[in-house]
Amino acid sequence: MNLIIHNVTVFTNDDQNTVLENQAVAVKGARIEAVGTPAALKKKYKGFRQFDGEGRLLMPGLINAHMHFYGTFARGLSLPKPPRNFHEILRFLWWRLDTSLDLDAVYYSALVPAIGAVKHGVTAVIDHHASPNAVDGSLDRIEEALAQVGLRAVLCYEVSDRNGEEVRFRGLAENDRYIRKCQAAKEQNPDHLFDGMIGLHASFTLDEETLDEAAALSRSLDRGCHIHLLEDMVDARLTEQKYGADVVERLLQYGILGPQSIAAHGIHLDQVQMDALAYSDTMIVHNPQSNMNNAVGRADIFGLLKRGLPVGLGTDGMSPDVRPDLRTGYLLHKLALRNPNLGWEEFQKILLKNNPLIYRRVTGQPVGRIEPGYLADLILVDYFPPTPLTGENFWGHFLFGIVDAPVDTTIINGEIVMEHGQLPQVDEAAVAAEARKVAAKVWERFYA
Ligand SMILES: [Zn+2]
Repeated sequence: MNLIIHNVTVFTNDDQNTVLENQAVAVKGARIEAVGTPAALKKKYKGFRQFDGEGRLLMPGLINAHMHFYGTFARGLSLPKPPRNFHEILRFLWWRLDTSLDLDAVYYSALVPAIGAVKHGVTAVIDHHASPNAVDGSLDRIEEALAQVGLRAVLCYEVSDRNGEEVRFRGLAENDRYIRKCQAAKEQNPDHLFDGMIGLHASFTLDEETLDEAAALSRSLDRGCHIHLLEDMVDARLTEQKYGADVVERLLQYGILGPQSIAAHGIHLDQVQMDALAYSDTMIVHNPQSNMNNAVGRADIFGLLKRGLPVGLGTDGMSPDVRPDLRTGYLLHKLALRNPNLGWEEFQKILLKNNPLIYRRVTGQPVGRIEPGYLADLILVDYFPPTPLTGENFWGHFLFGIVDAPVDTTIINGEIVMEHGQLPQVDEAAVAAEARKVAAKVWERFYA
């Protein structure tokens, strides 16, 4: 779509955190064409739709760097037995829920949070999917759901040996097939909404042969792996017991980690492991709300950032909105380390700079800035600053104001996917009604 968004305050998210008053942004097709005065853009780009921002804040869309759409139907589910630790959370909840999903459940469990994402200003998501009884074509069903909403995403299927050899084989094949499909689409159109990675569960459920095959796939497709890393000590303990190895050393040795790969969590890393990770330049994604919910600990994001590692932020399925994790993470580290002067710079970097960097490393797509040539993934936020707003103090406005502000309009790939709170393509209540029917069947299988 071609449009000029005017009557807005623009936060460009460039290196200077530039804030522009009384400027307009021209979008041509999927990309940002120009930033300038409303009069100049109107004159230059005749025939572009004029979009009145009504004084709102225009900023780049937010990115969720680690998500599990498939967890949607856990909401309201009660567990037969209370889990006493992380391994029991996996066994009692997630590994029972994922085996209860069929392809319709996969579709609706993605469609519901996709709607939630665009409503909360998230324009790109890196997802990690599991449905061991419905592997083949599962990523297509997720893509179908996201395409209906217009959400940008990187998808992968979570390969593991916990469901036997056949499911492991199907998982690898699903990643292989889906990545090739996206690569073919991107040859035609580099702005294509979807891309893939090679999904892996975690070291303690992955045999040697599986790691070898995943690494071979990664090399041949030129795509990184997306894996959970030391989310809990069970990963270290069982990797040692089953394979006689250190988790980080093992994953590095097999070529699973590296600059194209994402490791989620990284909570129980020691100094030596952090050094090794820094050398590998692996992308790390912090998920503070999930970590608190599972009571698994706190990642040393300061140690990781100090070593130059690109640390990003995800929600791990806790929420389709990444802003609650941003604020929770910021507060968590201050409290845990009893230091009120902590995390200000770091969390700004994690959300606004590193998440776009991570997304670009994976997909090659320029996102996260309002600058000519960048993808037009933009949000108009109902934020009318009650105090002076400048580039220098933008982060304060974000952390204590914009995090709570409703998103009015969301644009992805130059398309308006939500306009003044309404999603033109989707009837949210009807989707939820359909999802409830599908969820009831999933729950029947869960309790069977
Ligand atoms: Zn996860």
